Amino acid sequence: MTSVHQLLHDRFGFSHFRGVQEQVVARALEGHHTLAVMPTGAGKSLCYQLPALARHGTAIVISPLIALMQDQVRSAESFGINAAALTSASEDPRAIRDALRDGKLDLLYVAPERATTEGFSRLLQEADIALFAIDEAHCVSEWGHDFRPDYRLLLPLLDQHREVPRLALTATADKRTRADILVQLGIGADGLIVAGFDRPNIRYHVRPRDGAARQVGALMKDQPGPGIVYVPSRNAAEKLAEQLDAPGRRVLPYHAGLEPKVRSRNQSAFVASEEMVMAATIAFGMGIDKPDVRFVAHAGVSKSIEAYYQETGRAGRDGDPAEAWLFWGADDFARARRRIETEVEPERRPQERERLNMLAAFVEAATCRRAILLRHFGEEPPERCGNCDNCLEPPATIDVTTVAQKLLSAAFRTEMRFGVAHLEAVLGGNDNEKVRQFGHDRLSVFGIMDAEELALVKPVARSLLARDALRADEYGGLSFGPGAKPILKGEQSLVIAVPPKRVRRKRGQADY
Ligand code: ADP
Ligand code: ZN
Repeated sequence: MTSVHQLLHDRFGFSHFRGVQEQVVARALEGHHTLAVMPTGAGKSLCYQLPALARHGTAIVISPLIALMQDQVRSAESFGINAAALTSASEDPRAIRDALRDGKLDLLYVAPERATTEGFSRLLQEADIALFAIDEAHCVSEWGHDFRPDYRLLLPLLDQHREVPRLALTATADKRTRADILVQLGIGADGLIVAGFDRPNIRYHVRPRDGAARQVGALMKDQPGPGIVYVPSRNAAEKLAEQLDAPGRRVLPYHAGLEPKVRSRNQSAFVASEEMVMAATIAFGMGIDKPDVRFVAHAGVSKSIEAYYQETGRAGRDGDPAEAWLFWGADDFARARRRIETEVEPERRPQERERLNMLAAFVEAATCRRAILLRHFGEEPPERCGNCDNCLEPPATIDVTTVAQKLLSAAFRTEMRFGVAHLEAVLGGNDNEKVRQFGHDRLSVFGIMDAEELALVKPVARSLLARDALRADEYGGLSFGPGAKPILKGEQSLVIAVPPKRVRRKRGQADY
């Protein structure tokens, strides 16, 4: 009998399983349903590739990433696995269907939209199925950060083959999402396997943004080796690449708007390089296997803690020390909150708001970053990790409730439509032309702050925006969010971390 260890060694060339792989593979081979929550880089593919070889029949892999399927097929083929992807881009779909019926495929990748069609269901009736692997399984949950309605239609298909083991896989599911995945895919609670999420070699740093290009430039000086800088837009990717590209330290852009040829050329250059930096949108990273990425920087906040963890998880897969830097601004949160209120379906808004609040708590925290991240994924980490900014340089905290109350009052008295610079002028008693024009020099809040308080206005505004006590319109005009009243009434205090270095800002700079 060829044991799984022998298969692992002979076909994949690995000497041993990593972490929970062995447990997950064993369950699949015994015919049990499983939800495996494993961080990026933990080796999820092997968990279904090996059973695909060991079990009779074809493993059907449901994957939302059509763009990556060809890569996945090639990677599987490199281990001698007979694999194919059935997509609209398949050259000969009939041949693939025939191969499936004839039992000639070990693995078949298919997108959920196709998997849930009548035609595919009929096709599977004629096939011998070894396993259903549901990749990116968080897409099935409305609590997940990337809900795809098609995933909800998978259960009936799976239930047509009750005896076939199901293996749901995800890197990014918090507790609630996991519970939901189990229900949505018909997996028993005892089928949940969670790998340790900690990436101890990654050092986390979070800083207010103060000229992202300059901050990233400084980071590149301190940190040799390949890096990824995530930026919020295609434009920003191009601009940053242009600004930072230098002899000996190439910086290339990567985003979905690039010609496919250029995009894949930049990607190959990055994978091959030992010093290159990629200025990329989140289009970059999935399916890229580069173990020696030394830093991942974010020039703006990710969509959620899960997304942030997944993106930073691309650093240091080789286990050597690596860095994660997040440069955030209040406008990141203001924009995300506007998006939720205008673009997200009303019934999904509460969980989206909560997701953003958790991210705000993370960037604002004065306590161990790793502990916050790991608790988010349901672990019980020690209070301090010793390898994040807040552990290495514990920030002083100050109670800024009074400053916040004065700032909120100023926003209220000026009818909640002015930006932070104007409110600062009013509060500081600066009777400039605009202040006089609106008669704001006659308000009770005019000149009620001293220099020390004024120096805190921007960090306080940032904090209030992050926690939805203030909301900014697209011109920066500030109005109350749901968190404003409790602070104004003195029911809730506001404590912020004093940044380790005082950041100097130029006048008129957008970041605050
Ligand atoms: P994930 O999908 O969880 O992010 P992958 O399946 O892409 O991770 O695997 C990440 C890398 O780890 C791949 O290069 C893979 O070949 C490698 N790998 C997986 N399992 C093992 C193992 N048991 N031993 C050594 N390397 C492994
Ligand atoms: Zn820490």
